[in-house]
Amino acid sequence: MPIDANRYREVLLDAKAEFEKRVNTIHNHARDPLNADSAEQAAELGNVEVVSALESEAVLELAEIDSALQRLQAGNFGICTTCGEDISSKRLTARPASAECLDCAELNS
Ligand SMILES: [Zn+2]
Repeated sequence: MPIDANRYREVLLDAKAEFEKRVNTIHNHARDPLNADSAEQAAELGNVEVVSALESEAVLELAEIDSALQRLQAGNFGICTTCGEDISSKRLTARPASAECLDCAELNS
């Protein structure tokens, strides 16, 4: 089944915008904790480890989305980067940035 590149490009760009927004929000909070307008928020911001874990998670996700967009551009989107088999459309729908088929992803986890 051919990949609907335009659809995935849209989904990936949407996800990219979302994660960029998230990274910016985390950044701003981490840099400017004095602007916290509630005690709850301040407590949350006090946990620098959580903030940086969230940020690196989002940054990692962004990198995956970017490489998925590059694969779309190159015409090999939807092909497992490890074994070269097609990634199931079910998996791509659930996680468009997937670089590997389910089998390879499970082997590596
Ligand atoms: Zn594979």
